[in-house]
Amino acid sequence: MTMSIHQYLCLTDNYGALVHDPATGATACVDVPEAGPTLAALRERDWNLTDILITHHHADHIQGVPDVKVKFPKAKIWGPAKDAARIPFLDHEVKEGDMARVGSLGAKVIETPGHTLGHIAYYFDGEEAAFCGDTLFSLGCGRVFETPLAVMWSSLMKLAALPGETQVYCGHEYTEANGRFAASVEPGNPVLKARIEEVARLRAGRRPTVPTTLAAELAANPFLRAEEPAIQAAVGMAGTHPAAVFAELRTRKDRF
Ligand SMILES: [Zn+2]
Repeated sequence: MTMSIHQYLCLTDNYGALVHDPATGATACVDVPEAGPTLAALRERDWNLTDILITHHHADHIQGVPDVKVKFPKAKIWGPAKDAARIPFLDHEVKEGDMARVGSLGAKVIETPGHTLGHIAYYFDGEEAAFCGDTLFSLGCGRVFETPLAVMWSSLMKLAALPGETQVYCGHEYTEANGRFAASVEPGNPVLKARIEEVARLRAGRRPTVPTTLAAELAANPFLRAEEPAIQAAVGMAGTHPAAVFAELRTRKDRF
């Protein structure tokens, strides 16, 4: 690991993150839910913001950008080409397979449509860190607003193909509520049970539950486990295509 990552809370349950390249001094923030905490985090570390990586167009991910740009007018903004019309200030419009550059660091762009049409994730290859925005949460996934449910399943499977040791950074602190739904689906999963206990301890101390790892999510997150017989049986869909099982899980979670 050569890069430093600093995650910080914004608004009520959003996370912002700074990614710093010690080799060049370049620093990026991943989404800007709120300018104040972002600028404070930069100031505390004496880091100069060079880049802003946007995952998707929702206000709680981009609304801090203008105020941050006032302070760091040279910072370049990267974001999804497919949503350029809804993210008006992009300097670099990126799509699947492109690399976003932060100094000597490179983040591979993974298109993950579902939560929004243009949603992208950033994967720092070799650094084993992925910034998944509102696509993958610990023990959950984002609401699917702009595509059919099966498209979100494909997006999650792209993230699931990353190495198990990948540190997964998420756009929100939703793990506790996600755990309640996950336990209702798969109450007999010992890994899930242990994670829920860990999350309760962390939250009691007001500590973050993310980043998580992909391996941990594959073992406990029902939305990545739609192929598992136990999950399929729990929703009465044994032997069904996992995309359909995922759709049923997501629909149930919306009502939970
Ligand atoms: Zn969102």
